[in-house]
Amino acid sequence: MFTVSKQTDETSSIKTIRFKEGLAATPGQFVMVWVPGVDEFPMSVSYSANGLGITYQVLGDGTKALASKVQGDRIGIRGPYGKGFAIHGKRLLVVAGGAGMAPLAPFVEEAVTHKTSVDLVIGARTSSNILFESRAIKAGAKVHISTDDGTKGFKGLAVGLAESVLTGGKFDSIYACGPEKMLLGLLRIAESRGLPMQASLERFMKCGIGICDSCAIDGKHVCTDGPVFSERDLSTFGELAKTKLDMCGRKVPV
Ligand SMILES: Cc1cc2nc3c(=O)[nH]c(=O)nc-3n(C[C@H](O)[C@H](O)[C@H](O)COP(=O)(O)OP(=O)(O)OC[C@H]3O[C@@H](n4cnc5c(N)ncnc54)[C@H](O)[C@@H]3O)c2cc1C
Repeated sequence: MFTVSKQTDETSSIKTIRFKEGLAATPGQFVMVWVPGVDEFPMSVSYSANGLGITYQVLGDGTKALASKVQGDRIGIRGPYGKGFAIHGKRLLVVAGGAGMAPLAPFVEEAVTHKTSVDLVIGARTSSNILFESRAIKAGAKVHISTDDGTKGFKGLAVGLAESVLTGGKFDSIYACGPEKMLLGLLRIAESRGLPMQASLERFMKCGIGICDSCAIDGKHVCTDGPVFSERDLSTFGELAKTKLDMCGRKVPV
């Protein structure tokens, strides 16, 4: 059981919950978060130094209950689980869509400490939804913003902006987390340019440790084989951006 130290509003719908206890995790790894009496669900680690941090979009019962927790409340944490991001090369393009910035923020911070240059595209629906822009600038990343409604930066989707950033320089690798249509668009760009890519996927998870099969995608488990997959796996995933399993194991559209 971890003890809540504080909650911070990051955007109008995204919060960060910090805990007194720390946890050593590689950027991209996740924990299973148990809100007693409500639900258990997976969340990426967004801070591991100076106390675990989780940055979450407030959606349904589980995350609403998490948002109601205050300093001193106790939450169950299992993990860290899964495979995180690995640094490849000296110039990286990192692309985050919405809450997908949560696992990428610590990755950017780690990458810059390895003398790696990072161009970061943060995509959001509107300017008030942009997550961790100042955190990434402080870390030393070159930040590019896209908003669907044009209220800040490039007007349009993050994939369009990412393509123009790629055209303006020579990059070694692409990293991404966000909606699967965005990941698929980036995968096609990575394939056409012969660039390696790593992307973090989300699937419904129950056990988080490779037993229940809830998070299966084309024969792999997102919890143990991922959640970060390389372009070698991603390009074999016929289900990417098409179908996923729901909480009852039924195949449904993404
Ligand atoms: C590896 C991984 C890392 C994640 N990291 C983050 C993160 O850092 N920040 C963040 O905001 N979200 C993250 N998610 C998504 C997060 O788990 C769900 O948004 C959350 O469980 C919603 O719960 P809810 O009860 O509030 O919403 P609900 O109303 O119950 O569900 C809303 C949506 O969330 C998804 N969801 C619900 N329960 C689960 C579950 N047990 N497993 C997977 N997806 C579920 C479903 O797609 C559902 O449609 C991650 C998911 C995975 C698989």
